Amino acid sequence: MARRKDVTVFYDERVLNHAPDVNAAFLPGRLDKRVRAILSGLAVQWKYPEHPGRIRAIVDLLEREPVEGVRFATGQPATREQLARVHTTSYLDEVFSLRNKNAWLDVDTTAVSPGSVEAAEVAAGTAIAAVEAVVAGNTDSAFALVRPPGHHAEPVRARGFCLFNNVAVAAAHAQAQLGCERVLILDWDAHHGNGTQDIFWADPDVMFVDIHRAAPFYPGSGGLQEVGAGLGEGTTVNIPMPGGAGDPAYLRAMQDILIPAAEYFKPDLILVSAGFDAHWYDLALNVTYEGFAAMTSIVQSLAERLCEGRLAFVLEGGYNTESLSRGVRSVLDVLAGGDIPQPRICGMAEVEEAIAFHLGAFTDDSTGN
Ligand SMILES: [Zn+2]
Repeated sequence: MARRKDVTVFYDERVLNHAPDVNAAFLPGRLDKRVRAILSGLAVQWKYPEHPGRIRAIVDLLEREPVEGVRFATGQPATREQLARVHTTSYLDEVFSLRNKNAWLDVDTTAVSPGSVEAAEVAAGTAIAAVEAVVAGNTDSAFALVRPPGHHAEPVRARGFCLFNNVAVAAAHAQAQLGCERVLILDWDAHHGNGTQDIFWADPDVMFVDIHRAAPFYPGSGGLQEVGAGLGEGTTVNIPMPGGAGDPAYLRAMQDILIPAAEYFKPDLILVSAGFDAHWYDLALNVTYEGFAAMTSIVQSLAERLCEGRLAFVLEGGYNTESLSRGVRSVLDVLAGGDIPQPRICGMAEVEEAIAFHLGAFTDDSTGN
C-alpha cells in the first residue's frame, strides 16, 4: 500500500529527567516509612518500574528502523492553567512544592525525583502539542511519546506512576481552546484508567471507553456497571477482560462496543491512551503487535469517518521495553498508511507445519497395505 499519511511523534527529552531512585534519601515522613516497610518485605531488590529506558527504547527503535511518513517534533511544558482544568489547585501546589526533591506521592510506590515535576509538566504539554497539531491539520495524526504516564492520576491524587493526567489535560485543552465540543478517549492500557474516568465521570462531552484487565488487577476499578453519573451517565464505557484475553476479544470489543458508541457520540476529536502492557510480554493479557495494528486501523477509520481524521495517541504504560517499542512502532506504521497485518492465533501456522512434518512418521506403509 502506498504511504499517504503524515504522522508526527511529539517528544521532548526533558521527560527522561523523571527517574526516581529508591536508594536515594526521600522526604521523611509517614509515606516514606510505609513504602520502605512494604519494599523491605519483598524478596527482590525493588526498582522503579517506570523508568527513562522505556522511552529510550522506543526512540532507539524508531532511529534504527524508521517508519516512512513519521517525523519528530518537540513538546513544551503545560502551564498551570492548563493543568488546573483537571487537577485541583491544592494538588498542584503540593506537587509543585516537590520540585527538585525525592519523595513518595502514594503508598502504591508512585514517586518523584528532582527532575520529575518538570518532566510531568512537559508530558502534559506534549500531549497538548499533539492535539493542537491534529486539530490545526498540520499532521494527519500524532503520537505523544511521554512519561510519566497519566491515566491513573486523579484530580487530587497521584497514583500508578502517574502525576498529571496527560490525556485528560489534552482533552480539556481541546474543549477549552480548540473548538472541540466532544472528545472520545479510548484507553487500551492493560490497567483501568481510573484517573481519566474520575475526571470525566459526570461530563457528557467526554466519552471514555476503557478496555482493561478486570479487578482485582490494579487499580481495581473499571467494572461494567461504572457508566458515569449525572449528565455524564452513559459516557463512561468499561470493558473488563479476564487475564490472558487477546486479539480476538479486543477486536470484538472494538467492533461491537467502540464503533457503535463512537457513532452515537459523534466526537470532534479521538484520543487514545495507548499503553502497551496488554502485550503478552508484560504477562497480564495476550495482545500481539498485529492486534495493536488492527486496533489502530479501527480507530483511524473511525476518526476519518466521524471527525475529519483528528486522532492523537498519548503513551501510557508498557514495561517490557521490547514489546513497548515494537508496539509503538506497529501503531505508527498503520497511522502512516502501512499495511494492516492480520492478527492470527499464535502457534496455528507452526502446528500446521509440524503436522505436515510429522505425519509421515505415523503411517506404517512397510506392509504394503
Ligand atoms: Zn498499564
